[in-house]
Amino acid sequence: MSVRIGQGCDVHAFGEGDHVMVGGVRIAHDRGVLAHSDGDVALHALCDAMLGALALGDIGVHFPPSDDRWKGADSRVLLRHCNQLLAARGWRVGNADVTVVCERPKIGPHAGAMRACIADDLGIAVEDVSVKATTSEKLGFTGREEGIAAQAACLLVRV
Ligand code: MG
Repeated sequence: MSVRIGQGCDVHAFGEGDHVMVGGVRIAHDRGVLAHSDGDVALHALCDAMLGALALGDIGVHFPPSDDRWKGADSRVLLRHCNQLLAARGWRVGNADVTVVCERPKIGPHAGAMRACIADDLGIAVEDVSVKATTSEKLGFTGREEGIAAQAACLLVRV
């Protein structure tokens, strides 16, 4: 096979705090997220998509919450680690597409910075990374602002 496809999703609940990390970007907010790592749903969904493309398990297998190494971890470290796993097997991300779901904070103004972060970590062009945002029209847990969610898809190509 010359291409592989993967998808991932992630959710974190809001809690006390003054910022959220999304797509590697720190966004000031009146809540934080409850998480073992920095709780970056966009990067976690993307990591799962990359791992899934090669059937390498999920983010919980590679970065278990029981492992103190990942306590408060910068999710960009996890993303780069996943990228190395792909590279070691002869693959790289051809393109990736991430959708963040929340009412607040507004993601759109930060999407460009997120694309740059992700492209940098994956060693690919920013044109090959998409970050989109949507609300859930005030429905469900994201609509009630109880948490933030993300979905990601990626295509892997042979190096
Ligand atoms: Mg997560």
